[in-house]
Amino acid sequence: MSEILHFAGLRGRLERDRPLARSTSWRAGGPADWLFHPADRDDLAAFLRQLPPSMPLLVLGLGSNTLVRDGGVRGAVVVMHDPGAALAVADGLVYAEAGVASPKVARLAARLGCAGAEFLAGIPGTIGGALAMNAGCYGGETWGHVARVEVLGRDGRFEVRTPADYAVAYRSVRRADGAAADGIFTAAWFSFVPGDAESARARIRELLARRIATQPLSLPNAGSVFRNPPGDHAARLIEAAGLKGLAIGGAQVSELHANFIVNPRGAARAADIEALIALVRSTVRERSGIDLEPEVRIVGETATGGAR
Ligand SMILES: Cc1cc2nc3c(=O)[nH]c(=O)nc-3n(C[C@H](O)[C@H](O)[C@H](O)COP(=O)(O)OP(=O)(O)OC[C@H]3O[C@@H](n4cnc5c(N)ncnc54)[C@H](O)[C@@H]3O)c2cc1C
Repeated sequence: MSEILHFAGLRGRLERDRPLARSTSWRAGGPADWLFHPADRDDLAAFLRQLPPSMPLLVLGLGSNTLVRDGGVRGAVVVMHDPGAALAVADGLVYAEAGVASPKVARLAARLGCAGAEFLAGIPGTIGGALAMNAGCYGGETWGHVARVEVLGRDGRFEVRTPADYAVAYRSVRRADGAAADGIFTAAWFSFVPGDAESARARIRELLARRIATQPLSLPNAGSVFRNPPGDHAARLIEAAGLKGLAIGGAQVSELHANFIVNPRGAARAADIEALIALVRSTVRERSGIDLEPEVRIVGETATGGAR
């Protein structure tokens, strides 16, 4: 049973015991004790200032890299995705609030005749999620283009930081001093090099066509489940281990792309997906000696309680 909380003056939507399956691209998982959709960044700051310091807090963008366990998430979950979030050009930089869907940044940059943002067109998350994950593909990475970011602390205060404040690597973003990245990304300023609008649009079309041909985009999934190990591809190792098509409950290793797990009938429990992740990992370890590390973030409690 979730704790009773009282907030004053919020303009966003605050709901109690809300299912999160619709807030993740796998369409699986249990409820949040408290689910907050802030009206804007100031509303989010007001929420954080009133949130009891002991209450756990989880941030989601579009949930396209997250598995929420069936028992749900204790405490508060903030959903950042906002179709009305600001996206603009300022002093030659592209300014995007964290709730902007990443493909919108790719399209704006192309319209402006910039090059380098095209890779974001196929990443179905938010800018906040792209910053947290250093999302990337086809040779591009989010932090390769960041000029500065705005971060909101748990105390409700905003701070502007630069890439020098972070140690950024493949799908990994930490503070430069080695601590885990703290705070919520609320906005970013991106710098893209001058290019040509038509070439950028053509590149976006080409990258999206490549995805449609190689990824099971019509079925609920969360992109690549495992990080690529140095010098190899997780998909190749999973396929070589004969695991394409393997299913547990409603979850299945994609026939099209072995590093994707799909939820074809929308009926998978998060426990099915997590068990399949564990089975793929142990089988690949047995067959190739390589321990694949999950790229997806697993959060929350199992249906029987406990975060494991
Ligand atoms: C079909 C498909 C294809 C994909 N292809 C790619 C790809 O090519 N390359 C790639 O890198 N990824 C890919 N992904 C994975 C995913 O889209 C990216 O990681 C994306 O950037 C996640 O964004 P999100 O908003 O959905 O994040 P979420 O899944 O909501 O969150 C991911 C993590 O970021 C944290 N987070 C989210 N927002 C914030 C914020 N504002 N401040 C601080 N922390 C935050 C969350 O707490 C969580 O830990 C793919 C996914 C799908 C479904």
